[in-house]
Amino acid sequence: MTVRTGADRRPPRPRTGRAVESLAERRARARRVARALADAYPDAWCALRHENAWQLLVATILSAQCTDERVNMVTPALFARYPTPAAMAAAPAAELESMIRSTGFFRQKTKALKSVAAAIAAQGGEVPRDMDALVALGGVGRKTANVVLGTAYGVPSIMVDTHVRRLASRLGFTREDDPVKIEMDLRALLPPAEWTHFSHRLIHHGRRICTARAPRCPECPLLRRCPQIGVPARFTTAARRPS
Ligand code: SF4
Repeated sequence: MTVRTGADRRPPRPRTGRAVESLAERRARARRVARALADAYPDAWCALRHENAWQLLVATILSAQCTDERVNMVTPALFARYPTPAAMAAAPAAELESMIRSTGFFRQKTKALKSVAAAIAAQGGEVPRDMDALVALGGVGRKTANVVLGTAYGVPSIMVDTHVRRLASRLGFTREDDPVKIEMDLRALLPPAEWTHFSHRLIHHGRRICTARAPRCPECPLLRRCPQIGVPARFTTAARRPS
């Protein structure tokens, strides 16, 4: 898929004191942000418990509109009952619904799980290893595919969830709203080897410090490197500016 990135055509205007941040400057800043995140969260990784790509795919589908903690409470029994895509495809819908009810939207999730399971079972039972094949399964979006590719298969990937979306904007790394364009903007800023860790760490940071409602800027390790785009003044500090 060819996607034009905002990184090249519309550089953000962070509150840096400079009129416009060039792409080279933004790349350099992104590397410093990635390093600071690595220092702050060296072990940050996917919080969904899984032992293989199939389990991670199921857990990621269940995590829509649900906390990872809740998903982790449900999946052990689910994986024991349906250890393979073929087993889940053959599961009675009512039984599956009852097992995943607490994750919310359980009817839609049951349909998605059974449909994806059937498609994978029909292809031999292995979760595909590339984006096009994953999204072709139906019921698997680009974000879910990136989680599986990056986390289970080691394919450099940037997953744009609500946290990555919010942080990419506040950090001045994108001006886009569309998740695919945000993904492409972030890809343009860092080498592929850093993509997966970077997005897991952004998610981690978004849950702990740069939250949606009350970002804790004064204690944020990224403060010196962050233009705090769109952050209300009561959460920011005028004392430090990006470098
Ligand atoms: S400085 Fe504030 S807006 Fe920027 S990443 Fe940190 S918490 Fe988020």
